[in-house]
Amino acid sequence: KQDGEEAKEIAKYLPYFPFKGIDRFYDIGGFLYEPAVFQKIVDIFVERYQAIGIDVVAGLDARGFILGPPIALALKKPFIMMRKKGKMPNTVESKEYETEYGSRSGLTVQADKIKKGDRVLIIDDLVATGGTLSSAISLVKQLDGVVVECACVVELKLFIDPSEESGLPSRTKSFAK
Ligand code: 5GP
Repeated sequence: KQDGEEAKEIAKYLPYFPFKGIDRFYDIGGFLYEPAVFQKIVDIFVERYQAIGIDVVAGLDARGFILGPPIALALKKPFIMMRKKGKMPNTVESKEYETEYGSRSGLTVQADKIKKGDRVLIIDDLVATGGTLSSAISLVKQLDGVVVECACVVELKLFIDPSEESGLPSRTKSFAK
């Protein structure tokens, strides 16, 4: 389904705005407001992970908490939250990680929610640098679970300009190209 006709159709309901210092922040509020599009997204993931087989759906704070539960319910599998530090009891924690805009503190998951050998599907709305997903993967590994796949609705293709002093990936330039 990646980059196919359905993806193009879904992208019509994904507006972007300048927001909090980001020139193009993609707003999933666009497709959440369209039940047929939201349902289509859920169905695409459900079909894929019914075929592949998973034990647990893990959603990332915060928009993975919107996309993960309908998928988990349709698959009849447990949903677990991966949250920022200090929000849940009895957790394990991942290390600080880097994103486009600097470092972020680690994620946490409740220790009893992933058992050794559990096949975990990680869900978020969007992947940019992959820093957030890598942090989530390390949590599953700490608990001896197996990451089956990470699933996102949007993948940003970032561009690294070698002449830029910061060396950080950029969104604007990747689209301007
Ligand atoms: P990464 O760690 O891959 O650099 O950034 C992805 C994380 O930041 C995800 O948790 C995602 O929700 C959030 N994020 C970054 N940029 C955007 C954006 O343009 N739109 C949305 N909806 N989320 C974003």
